[in-house]
Amino acid sequence: MSDAAGRRLNPQDVAALRDSVYGPVLEPGADGYEAECATFNLVCPLRPAVVVGASSEQDVVAAVRFAARHGLPVAVKSAAHQVVSAAEGAVLITTGRMKGMSVDAQYGTVTVQAGVRWSEVLPRAAEAGLAPIVGSAPEVGVVGYTLGGGQSPLLGRTYGYAADHVRRLDVVTADGQLRRVTPQDEPDLYWALLGGKGNFGVVTEIEFDAFPVSRFYGGGIYFPGEHLEQVLNAWRAWLPTVGEDMTSSVAVQRLPDLPALPEPLRGAFVVHLRIGYLGTAADGERLVEPLRDAAPALLDLVGEKPFGAIGEIHLDPVDPMPYYDRSLGLREFSAKTAQAFLELTGPESGCTLVGVEIRALGGAFDREPEFPNSVPSRGLAYVAFASVVGTADQADELRGELTRVFDGLLPWADERNLVNFLSPDEATDAEGVRELYGAQRYERLAALKRTYDPGNVFRFNYNITPA
Ligand SMILES: Cc1cc2nc3c(=O)[nH]c(=O)nc-3n(C[C@H](O)[C@H](O)[C@H](O)COP(=O)(O)OP(=O)(O)OC[C@H]3O[C@@H](n4cnc5c(N)ncnc54)[C@H](O)[C@@H]3O)c2cc1C
Repeated sequence: MSDAAGRRLNPQDVAALRDSVYGPVLEPGADGYEAECATFNLVCPLRPAVVVGASSEQDVVAAVRFAARHGLPVAVKSAAHQVVSAAEGAVLITTGRMKGMSVDAQYGTVTVQAGVRWSEVLPRAAEAGLAPIVGSAPEVGVVGYTLGGGQSPLLGRTYGYAADHVRRLDVVTADGQLRRVTPQDEPDLYWALLGGKGNFGVVTEIEFDAFPVSRFYGGGIYFPGEHLEQVLNAWRAWLPTVGEDMTSSVAVQRLPDLPALPEPLRGAFVVHLRIGYLGTAADGERLVEPLRDAAPALLDLVGEKPFGAIGEIHLDPVDPMPYYDRSLGLREFSAKTAQAFLELTGPESGCTLVGVEIRALGGAFDREPEFPNSVPSRGLAYVAFASVVGTADQADELRGELTRVFDGLLPWADERNLVNFLSPDEATDAEGVRELYGAQRYERLAALKRTYDPGNVFRFNYNITPA
């Protein structure tokens, strides 16, 4: 095994690490190393010096202490939906074996270990009549999602970010200490962890509030892409008329010809309108009517659904694939923005991106939570996100297309953005990370980074440099 500087690590040290943990310790070339390093985005491979497949918080402590003793950086992976660096030379801690979960129906809380995905929480929470603040893709990991804010396309405008409802985090900091972090006992570290995603330690367990929601009215309406202009106009006129219990987004999609997609969508150019409404189906029908009237639909999947079907709103891909992505916070989606969006992504644009979406935020996303955190996107009106499928040998061309579309939206850009929507490319832009948090928030984060991670052990992320 070699470290970041290419030095060989002492095999006895690695043997000692192996003896100190229950989970597997895998070096490059070992059976299981590739599988343990697997990522959702296939153009973002992980190549750490060693992987520790943590089976418990004690394993995480042992792995972080090992890294500290040998001056190695630490990377962490759960469900692998936002790997931003190959983490070469690092100790990679994978949390996929840490599947502990409990639901407290009386207090309305859920506690999960670091390897749990939302798809595993949904049925357990539903048994207690509860719903967590889950995002569009239930295969995403709970902890990474929550540390990056956690923007839900169904509960968010009513309850705010997932991070706003965290009661406790157990975290192993760079010094190898396991700390119990609550807003009462450790308000600074609590503030930094929730928003500062991955910069302050390895979270081993998290406890958060869930809400008494068991169903919703929603899903997606697909229109032929030629009707983008009418759909955008109808959506923009409609947005100010709906309350916080209605969440929506719109996406232009050039879909692949995959059997996983319903027949009319295979290989199709579509506008996908996404609806998540917490009121009754009858009210939902009435509210969605002006959108249905915008153009003839290709496929209308909006209806009454159990909460566990939240993934049907966006129908995000679930299988790993190679792609490049970009995101941008927008302060408005005015008539001029919509016109530019149409020209950049519409039928005449020549756009090759698989999806370009605009999510409307607002509502409770704008409100300060009871316990302050460092989520930087509060008050952001919209977020644009785009991805393009292709392999690393096409990187320049694919990035070029993303740049073309996002440069065209820059006149309406906001410096704020959702941490969870940042791409791997954005992780190498130190100035961009500073701007995203804003000077004041970044300086406080950097000061806390100096306290809890002065050596920047946790650096394979949207890095906050220790002050
Ligand atoms: C298809 C798709 C749909 C998505 N939809 C939404 C959405 O609707 N709303 C939203 O907010 N986000 C959304 N996201 C973003 C998603 O929330 C983030 O990518 C999230 O970080 C994924 O977590 P993971 O465990 O899957 O990823 P991983 O790649 O395993 O983790 C990502 C990062 O999270 C941090 N992290 C993970 N676990 C820990 C831990 N135990 N301790 C400390 N740090 C940790 C690390 O910095 C790590 O690099 C979506 C992503 C995809 C790919």
